[in-house]
Amino acid sequence: MSEELIRFENVTKRFGENTVLDDLCFSVRAGQHVTLIGPSGSGKTTILRLLMTLEKPDAGTIRVNGGKLHPADEKHRREVRKKIGMVFQHFNLFPHMSVLRNITEAPIRVLGKSREEAEARGRELLDMVGLADKYEARPAQLSGGQQQRVAIARALAMEPKVLLLDEVTSALDPELVAGVLDLLREIARTTDITMICVTHEMNFARDISDEVLMFDGGRVIESGSPEKIFSDPEHERTREFLGAVL
Ligand code: ADP
Repeated sequence: MSEELIRFENVTKRFGENTVLDDLCFSVRAGQHVTLIGPSGSGKTTILRLLMTLEKPDAGTIRVNGGKLHPADEKHRREVRKKIGMVFQHFNLFPHMSVLRNITEAPIRVLGKSREEAEARGRELLDMVGLADKYEARPAQLSGGQQQRVAIARALAMEPKVLLLDEVTSALDPELVAGVLDLLREIARTTDITMICVTHEMNFARDISDEVLMFDGGRVIESGSPEKIFSDPEHERTREFLGAVL
């Protein structure tokens, strides 16, 4: 079994009176593909944002590769964000830059790659996501599905150890969803990158996950293989949730 890469130890996160994560514990091993499911508002996105050091826990410890996260320390935040890539529901591409430049900007500025090296890798990644011919386009000239592929390529260009995917298809027109999910399946199959996905696409979750975590009330109420969670859930809340979304 591979080593543990991420660990939440008794993590509590509140927004005002609202306790979103309540003494949460879970861990993810290197190379695992973990899917977070559960009702809207159960804290799934907050978990990804905590990992990206975009939020700070009120109590508890988050470890990546054994080291504690220090979200208040800017230098540390930069280091963490080199190791962890995130793809958002809304693609957040830079609108005034070409597709290729969107992908090469961070590797040049943050990783110190030469422009030639970053562009060569950027073109490889665009080829992988099926957009080799769009490198000069501006994001607005692309469909939502194509923009999301660029956002995925941009995250991968940083060679992260972990890829966080936050409902990456939920802003897409229905006919564009399958292509993006197929791309993610391919990435899961062909790379050793650790993936943590928040998704409402249960067939996708079933296909790519090694483990599914079901959240409710700020905690993991049930976890296991997709076969177990989707075919034989133990918890009544899981059955209700799956009954509503499947
Ligand atoms: P999920 O991803 O499971 O839908 P979220 O993590 O997005 O859940 O949100 C969990 C809860 O935290 C929700 O009630 C949401 O309104 C609240 N929340 C999230 N971010 C903030 C914030 N920045 N300020 C205040 N409340 C927030």
